[in-house]
Amino acid sequence: MGFVIAIDGPAASGKGTIALRLGETLDLPVLDTGLLYRAVGAAVLASGGDPDDEAAAGRTARALDPGRLDEDALRGREAGEAASRVAVHPQVRAALLDVQRAFARREPGAILDGRDIGTVVAPEAPCKIYVTASAAVRARRRHAQLLGRGETVAYDAILADIRRRDERDGGRAAAPLARAADAALLDTTDLDIDHAFDAALRIVEASRGRWETS
Ligand code: C5P
Repeated sequence: MGFVIAIDGPAASGKGTIALRLGETLDLPVLDTGLLYRAVGAAVLASGGDPDDEAAAGRTARALDPGRLDEDALRGREAGEAASRVAVHPQVRAALLDVQRAFARREPGAILDGRDIGTVVAPEAPCKIYVTASAAVRARRRHAQLLGRGETVAYDAILADIRRRDERDGGRAAAPLARAADAALLDTTDLDIDHAFDAALRIVEASRGRWETS
């Protein structure tokens, strides 16, 4: 395995932006694994299916072409909600595991962000970061993002979404959202994105030093 950076954390913690900026700075490819779950959730909805139906969601996940994701369409609120519903199903998680692991095997390394990268997808990753922030701050960020996309929705509704997703992602039996024992904790509640990125880069540099000498 090359230098894999596993970034996990709850919705709107800042992990996606941190992952992209690390990718640019370190010249490593980045996989936003949430997009895979969003694509499955959106496809189930588009076919008139029920995201809570494991067999239907599993079939959709196995048929997914991960090279052809319409990233912009998948960033909306509805796809996020459907994603967290299909993500509870072991069949869906199993179908998406190979593509994530293949990405993690890329040389000279790769960055993956999600919920279970450090615990399930790439437990051997030499660098793990668990990014978090208070629910209120995350709701404010997500609210601003959605307004920027032209989705008009009340802040309170977004806060409720975030709380529901935290509960579902952290409470499910299959690969729940969890900080790996060896993941560095990065709390971005009081950090703007530049400071959060600087803190992440310091964690990465320390891990890289240890990895290169091991
Ligand atoms: O990160 P994002 O909000 O795009 O993820 C959407 C949903 O996909 C999450 O709420 C979670 O339920 C699911 N997910 C997951 N495992 C991952 C990435 C995302 O279960 N590695």
